[in-house]
Amino acid sequence: MNTDASEAFARLGNGTRMAILEALTTVEDGRARPAVRSFTELFEATDEETTAGFSYHLRQLRDEYVEKTDDGYRLTYAGLKVVREITAGTYTERFDLDPIAVPDPCPFCAGALEAAGEDNVLTVSCTDCERDVLSLPFPPGGHATHDEDELLAAFDRHHRHRVRLMREGSCPECGGATRRAVDVEDERAHADLECSACGYALRCPVSLTVLEHPAVVSHYYEQSEDVRDHPVWNVGSGWTETVLSADPVCVRVGVRVGDEHLALLVGKDCSVVHTERTTVEPPEREEVPDATAA
Ligand SMILES: [Zn+2]
Ligand SMILES: [Zn+2]
Repeated sequence: MNTDASEAFARLGNGTRMAILEALTTVEDGRARPAVRSFTELFEATDEETTAGFSYHLRQLRDEYVEKTDDGYRLTYAGLKVVREITAGTYTERFDLDPIAVPDPCPFCAGALEAAGEDNVLTVSCTDCERDVLSLPFPPGGHATHDEDELLAAFDRHHRHRVRLMREGSCPECGGATRRAVDVEDERAHADLECSACGYALRCPVSLTVLEHPAVVSHYYEQSEDVRDHPVWNVGSGWTETVLSADPVCVRVGVRVGDEHLALLVGKDCSVVHTERTTVEPPEREEVPDATAA
């Protein structure tokens, strides 16, 4: 941990300084954008009565959060990041969600799924077999800005892209380099993805790491289907996972769409090393005599 972090956060702990940070953004079309402000504009945005008192607080924000340019003051990268998180409610909001029905069946028993939220964590669980299918955080901004009928799709998109970014080597939290591994235990495989900079980590089925692989996206598209209709809590019965080898690790992920089958071979570092498309032979039909020709 950076030894300056506690001091950097301590500098934010004041109402005047918060007012300065907020005044350095402008809201256009509901979006907060960085803005350049003069000393006087900033002073007037606060409740400070003297410029001496105001100057003291402004100094506490420089140069970490606010920098001076020829045109006035503006937010630094850290300042903008803090303001965005405050605006999105990351530090202050806590969302709970009463259970809502999930239109997809339970991947374990085909029973009914529901989603419920507690303290910004959304859990999809089965009301029949009572298993939790997944439980993942969803930021307050996500809860606040999506209508209930869009919420589940937004939650799904949020996480499938995070898994994709992690597999492709870039942490969705901080941009850091990720460590990727497929672990096999008792003939079952899991992907372990972890950021080497901030420690953000994910453990998920190998299938989820290839959900957005170009071969999978095009496989669905060519059959006039959309892989995004298959959410992370149930990708569908057309998906299979087989451990071909534990050492070296090789997992075959199979995706059947209509009569077309796609196989992806996934190696130790979660990379797709081979893909293969085959057409599933239709079952042999008995010859039915043509009555009119008889
Ligand atoms: Zn179930
Ligand atoms: Zn990270």
